[in-house]
Amino acid sequence: MSTQQYDVLVLGSGAGGKFMAWHMANEGHRTAVVERRWIGGSCPNVSCLPSKNEIWSAKVVHLARRAKAFGITTGPTAIDMAGVRQRKRQMVDDLVALHEDLYRTNGAELIIRIIQDNLAGGSRSTRARLVPYCVFTDPPLARVGLSEQEARERGIAARVARRPMNAVLSTRTLGETAGFMKVLVEATGDRILGSWASRCSARKPGRSWRRSRPRCWVGSRTPCSGTRSSRTPRWRRD
Ligand SMILES: Cc1cc2nc3c(=O)[nH]c(=O)nc-3n(C[C@H](O)[C@H](O)[C@H](O)COP(=O)(O)OP(=O)(O)OC[C@H]3O[C@@H](n4cnc5c(N)ncnc54)[C@H](O)[C@@H]3O)c2cc1C
Repeated sequence: MSTQQYDVLVLGSGAGGKFMAWHMANEGHRTAVVERRWIGGSCPNVSCLPSKNEIWSAKVVHLARRAKAFGITTGPTAIDMAGVRQRKRQMVDDLVALHEDLYRTNGAELIIRIIQDNLAGGSRSTRARLVPYCVFTDPPLARVGLSEQEARERGIAARVARRPMNAVLSTRTLGETAGFMKVLVEATGDRILGSWASRCSARKPGRSWRRSRPRCWVGSRTPCSGTRSSRTPRWRRD
């Protein structure tokens, strides 16, 4: 087996890895990126862009069905899910090809690790990770960490701070002020155990949550070091 020498080795070709790798390669460092699955990371393959692609199809049919309200006459509309999926898959294929081109022009070496560790007897799991999720209803519902019920079931005493979405000024620019944010805070301190939001742009929850106090919105079973605040949440408590 031959051994290759690199100046920089990046694990994962997502947003966090690819720009650094391309930058280092451009600077003249021999750079390799090891990717196990998604060329370009989750954003172009399975998260940001595919989700927006399909949501946009939903938006188009929604607008078409409301066309009369805008003074537009249309015929009957129908959703062709196979077409929606195909449009998304084509976009993902194009984005992967674009990333491959960028690797070629930037000179960073992309090494695909297709090996499935679990198939080879490994036992990788995401169970211990804090995974935020979003349900793309309209308005969407986003959540991270514990719910009130989960806290009760685990015997964790907690308080709930609530804030209406119209307190977030950007909702007024869209005229979409309905909705709320809630944060579950431990009863005896200010560690945030969970947080959730329902609003027209809850699919980007981080922004409004991070701008609001308390700032540490990812608290959970694990303490979030460096982001604890000694201040009491100033939101209204239930
Ligand atoms: C549904 C959804 C919608 C989103 N929409 C938006 C949005 O609109 N705007 C926004 O800013 N953010 C959005 N995000 C968040 C965004 O996708 C992430 O913040 C971003 O992709 C994180 O980039 P990353 O490089 O840290 O990780 P990733 O993009 O996940 O990249 C990590 C890469 O590392 C690889 N990898 C992991 N472990 C190994 C290993 N051991 N060996 C080799 N490779 C490995 C993975 O296969 C992956 O390709 C969304 C997320 C989701 C789930």
